[in-house]
Amino acid sequence: MKQKELTQVFPVWRGIGAHSGVGGGWSQGWGRWLQWEPDYPGQGARIPVFDCPIWLVLCRGRARLREVCQRGRGAFRLPTDMLSIKLPQLFDSHQVPKVFREDSIISGYRHPRSSVLDCILSSFQMNNETINIWTHFLPTWYFLWRFCILCSTLNFLTDIYTWPLLVYMVVICIYPFTSSCAHTFSTMSPESCHICYFFDYGALSLYSLGCAISYGYYVMPDCWVNSLLHQHFVLIAVGNTLLCTSLSCYSRFLDLQFPHRSKVLKTTAFVVPFIFDTVPLFYRILLCCRDSCGASDALTNHCYHLLFAFLTCFLFTAHLPERLAPGRFDYFGHSHQLFHVSAVVGTHFQMEGVIADMTSRRAWLMAHGATPSFLGTIGALAISLILNLGIIGIFSTPLIWRPCPPHKTACECKEQ
Ligand SMILES: [Zn+2]
Repeated sequence: MKQKELTQVFPVWRGIGAHSGVGGGWSQGWGRWLQWEPDYPGQGARIPVFDCPIWLVLCRGRARLREVCQRGRGAFRLPTDMLSIKLPQLFDSHQVPKVFREDSIISGYRHPRSSVLDCILSSFQMNNETINIWTHFLPTWYFLWRFCILCSTLNFLTDIYTWPLLVYMVVICIYPFTSSCAHTFSTMSPESCHICYFFDYGALSLYSLGCAISYGYYVMPDCWVNSLLHQHFVLIAVGNTLLCTSLSCYSRFLDLQFPHRSKVLKTTAFVVPFIFDTVPLFYRILLCCRDSCGASDALTNHCYHLLFAFLTCFLFTAHLPERLAPGRFDYFGHSHQLFHVSAVVGTHFQMEGVIADMTSRRAWLMAHGATPSFLGTIGALAISLILNLGIIGIFSTPLIWRPCPPHKTACECKEQ
């Protein structure tokens, strides 16, 4: 029985440049393993001190390992900095300023003045933003991977017909990445919280433009090709991005005083461009139902996308399930996490639908003169990017250079 309780400790690596003969600093200590029994008083003092930064500890259970690390610190010369690393402390909603609070989320808030390092570390610590960060960070890599595959199979440089898809792929990589960064760095200060989400909204606006460009060129029903709406579709979509970014950024200033009005404004800002972008698709599905055209690959994917788009909108507005049990879903399963997942799954189906339409309708669209232009695709994205950055700049300026009343110091001012 006694044998089972023993802990074996192996010095593994003696460090760079350690004088240890053959094999460098590695495995010299394997023959000098120790039997460590932390329960015996004074045992720690008898163990010789090794200057070895990496050890292998074999013991039963996590509690014993923690005990070995704590009580054997002097003998093992374990880096004390490493043992004392503490992840940032978490707070309850009443301990953080109102700007950071979320409906029905009670605990798991990060420090409202976190440093950049704290913010990055916090993405590896379980708090109420962790899943929000990862549910958009990982899909960024998925979409980038899909983009790389398309780059190797299509010729985006010279094939003008692929430019709407190029724009679409760029924006579906940008929006989850921006969102992930916004969720990571939003707790540096109340001002940074606003500015981070301004960028998030800007990226979503550009995503709506990317949808409009790809739908305008690939998804538009046959009977609408070359119509007045088709000719002005991208131009109106550029206008929508400006409206969407402005309204959603402005809504943040109403958050504290008029939360309901702010939510309505924010929802309108994203629903209006979505409905506009999707009108051609709705009409095509309607025509297909009327003529019993049969489900194509593209339309099936578009329908799945619409399903997830409605779910996304519902989750964004309903705040379910956390509204039913405040505090229960602080870390896992609250509506914003589900909203992220639903948005990403929807985008996946939308991407498949757009690619399927692009491939299957190529000959027909090219024959009917619906050839994309530089200005209608890459140019529109570049112009919208500049204009949206300008809007974000206009909303951010008063937050960055807020005049401080003469009776307050700059520090007091920032703490407001
Ligand atoms: Zn989000």
